Amino acid sequence: MHRMTSTQARRMRRPVLQAAIDAGAKCAEADPDLFFRADGEPTATWQAQRAEAIRVCHGCPVRAACEELALRDGDGNDRVDDLVRGGRSGCELAALRKRQAQRLSEAMTADEAADAEWRNLIEASVELWAEARVMPTRSAGIRHQAELVAQQNQRLRELADRITAVRSARRARTGWGVAA
Ligand code: SF4
Repeated sequence: MHRMTSTQARRMRRPVLQAAIDAGAKCAEADPDLFFRADGEPTATWQAQRAEAIRVCHGCPVRAACEELALRDGDGNDRVDDLVRGGRSGCELAALRKRQAQRLSEAMTADEAADAEWRNLIEASVELWAEARVMPTRSAGIRHQAELVAQQNQRLRELADRITAVRSARRARTGWGVAA
């Protein structure tokens, strides 16, 4: 699998980061307990376990996506050393989050906007599908039926335009240019 860079991960929206992790997480083959300190686990044991977990992460193709998502999720605490995610201890994640606070705030705001955009796209697609299944009534005479068909075509065009506008904006924003 292609190894993602931090620069690439920072440009991605949350669902894309999550999909990359779902597809490539190396820890999917590891013991999940490796990444968390057990209650009352002695420091020396945890330090050895933490080093092993970090070693697994450093061989993971989606480490950058995982770290980015952990930062946006608020994982880690600067007072409690009890987990590893994205190749970093919880304390390291907390410190990194402080240093990148402005960038992360902007990324999370963009995630929210993308969620709203995605809902808009789904709603328009469902409306388009439902509208396309409606047969204008045949009981009102040929002339009136032609009007109904024209109105329906107009609604379909408006919905298709709405979908194209959302897709084009998203593609342009992510550097893909205008929707094909
Ligand atoms: S970076 Fe580590 S915690 Fe994250 S998906 Fe990869 S192996 Fe799992």
